[in-house]
Amino acid sequence: MDAISRLKMLSAQTSFEPDGDSPLGPDRSRVPACIERRANDLYLSPAVMSGGGKILLLKSQLSSVCERDCHYCAFRAGRDFRRATFKPEEFAGVFMELYRRKAVDGLFVSSGIAGGGVRTQDKLLDTADILRRKLGYRGYLHLKIMPGAEKEQVYRAMQLADRVSVNLEAPNTARLAQLAPRKQFLEELIRPLRWVEEIRRSIPPIRAWKEHWPSSTTQFVAGGADESDVELLQTTQYLYGELRLKRTYFMAFSPVPDTPLENHEPTSGQRELRLYQASFLLRDYGFDLEEMPFEQDGNLPLAADPKLAWARANLAHSPIEINTADKRTLLRVPGIGLKGAEEILKIRRQHKLHDLGALRKIGIAADRAAPFVLLDGHQPAYQLGMM
Ligand code: SF4
Repeated sequence: MDAISRLKMLSAQTSFEPDGDSPLGPDRSRVPACIERRANDLYLSPAVMSGGGKILLLKSQLSSVCERDCHYCAFRAGRDFRRATFKPEEFAGVFMELYRRKAVDGLFVSSGIAGGGVRTQDKLLDTADILRRKLGYRGYLHLKIMPGAEKEQVYRAMQLADRVSVNLEAPNTARLAQLAPRKQFLEELIRPLRWVEEIRRSIPPIRAWKEHWPSSTTQFVAGGADESDVELLQTTQYLYGELRLKRTYFMAFSPVPDTPLENHEPTSGQRELRLYQASFLLRDYGFDLEEMPFEQDGNLPLAADPKLAWARANLAHSPIEINTADKRTLLRVPGIGLKGAEEILKIRRQHKLHDLGALRKIGIAADRAAPFVLLDGHQPAYQLGMM
């Protein structure tokens, strides 16, 4: 098979991997819609970066051959499908050709494991090294860290990439055993993420690519191990708080034919969305895990977003005065985001806010906020349906 045909196959098989800073949304059917086919019929995924810019990413494996047998995975050893493999220099050359032709803006590269995690990591590092040092590639590069990679390899990855990630897949050792019995949660997956943070904290970024250490992310297969949202968000809180991950991605479990979990119930896109919303409350809005509106079974309610559910329980009878509340308190109000809270503080320095129209003007979802706020001592009129 020629190189472009292999790349087409591998990019199609990898297109589900998340990247960038905007969630995919609740409807899984939107995923194919956000994937574009461009040059040579390759699958390319638009990704929104931290600064708000959108780039077209080629997401690919170096190889879809894998010696492991994770229960949910389409690439697991022994599963019958057409596989493809690239050598590092060959992959780097094909990608660079596409990049020079402006067919792609950035690269996400991972791999199935062949010959152990260390050997596979070396191949990914060689690919990145050829791109950066030999071919002069300066664009976005997201490098996957393989289970079992060594600290020196993690450090090298961080010197070459804009982002590194380790897929945890499950929130703890017991749940991972249900999904991927041959992966070791603490030793193979959490440890490399700890090293990333250790390196960021202890080594000056002058050693990093563009003198800036890469961000780190992870991904969970939500629902595949029958874990609860509490478990997923407990680990998420640790990852954001202690290891400063930029993002935890949640991929709703979807059964793959001819795998041990092929008859397992799929996870709804709505659950995935609620997990994203809750994770942002932990990361950006000052919420603690204990404040999440979990139900008896440890899951978030699907019917309302977690911030709204929290506000109904806590603010409905004690609304927040928009003209005096501090930023942390403003962020508790549904409809007020990070930008909106900043805008309120800015305007308040000049004059009071008297009505919902003033909130709308600065981009706040005023009808959503209305049941939970006071404006200059008065509760604004709102339609009941909004609450
Ligand atoms: S190691 Fe990765 S590619 Fe291999 S079976 Fe597990 S999840 Fe799939």
